[in-house]
Amino acid sequence: MLITGKEMLDVAKANKFAVPAFNAGSGQLLTAIMESAEEKQAPFIMAIHPSELKFLRDSFVAQVIYECNHSRIPIAIHLDHGASIEQVIHAIQLGFTSVMIDSSHLPFEENIKVTQEVVKIAHSVGVSVEAELGTIGDTGNTVEGGVTEVIYTDPDRAAEFVSRTNIDSLAVAIGTAHGIYPKNVKPKLRLDILEKITKAVDIPLVLHGGSSNPDEEIAKAVQLGISKINISSDIKISFTEKLREILNNSNFEIREPNAIFPECINVCRKTADQKIDLFNAADKVKCFSLFDKVVAGAGL
Ligand SMILES: [Zn+2]
Repeated sequence: MLITGKEMLDVAKANKFAVPAFNAGSGQLLTAIMESAEEKQAPFIMAIHPSELKFLRDSFVAQVIYECNHSRIPIAIHLDHGASIEQVIHAIQLGFTSVMIDSSHLPFEENIKVTQEVVKIAHSVGVSVEAELGTIGDTGNTVEGGVTEVIYTDPDRAAEFVSRTNIDSLAVAIGTAHGIYPKNVKPKLRLDILEKITKAVDIPLVLHGGSSNPDEEIAKAVQLGISKINISSDIKISFTEKLREILNNSNFEIREPNAIFPECINVCRKTADQKIDLFNAADKVKCFSLFDKVVAGAGL
């Protein structure tokens, strides 16, 4: 069922797990994460970046909403890295239940101003808002992008940012980067900074660039209070590696999507399964009483 980002993340924070936010950039990847979440009984966030939305077309959101309405798994549809108020409004109109406004590249006061405006608009129609303070790194070829040098989130500023903007969740910069790290780069999360932020801020915290960080660090970040982790590259890599293998090894007659993609979906699904387990999100559907409330409210 479709729920808001706030409904999702408040439950995750209270129950000490992190919701995977999958950037499933195609219908095939959507199938993979739906099957994984159903099997694992794990709530998840369907994240769509503006560049992905442009490629997928607006009608893709209707497909995601259909899936949500026909599943007992709590799902939020989230705009990843909204860059402008126009993009946020467009997403709200399509039925997203959560939006991110990313003005983290702007000076502090301007970031607050833009975020306040988005919160006013989104909250007036019950849509949740994530914003970012500090900057996430960029390893190169991702839709999300980022900066070459990470600016760590300042815990005191985070507290001020949250109280002045009234956002529902905060993306923090603690040393992750979008994409997969080059072989010579060893990512290291500043868990000490995360600990300070969790003490200063009491809304759910979000980790971007969670692909390819060591599992132990991610698990520790979840224990410390990260409630949402974005996963984009890892599921796409599993999918495309299998796709490459099939297309390179098969005879030239292979062309039917239903012959090419099922194996790719299965491999992608395994990666989604691993992330769900790592984030302690398996079997967490039971933490949500929303479905029963909706059913009772409908007089069924
Ligand atoms: Zn991101």
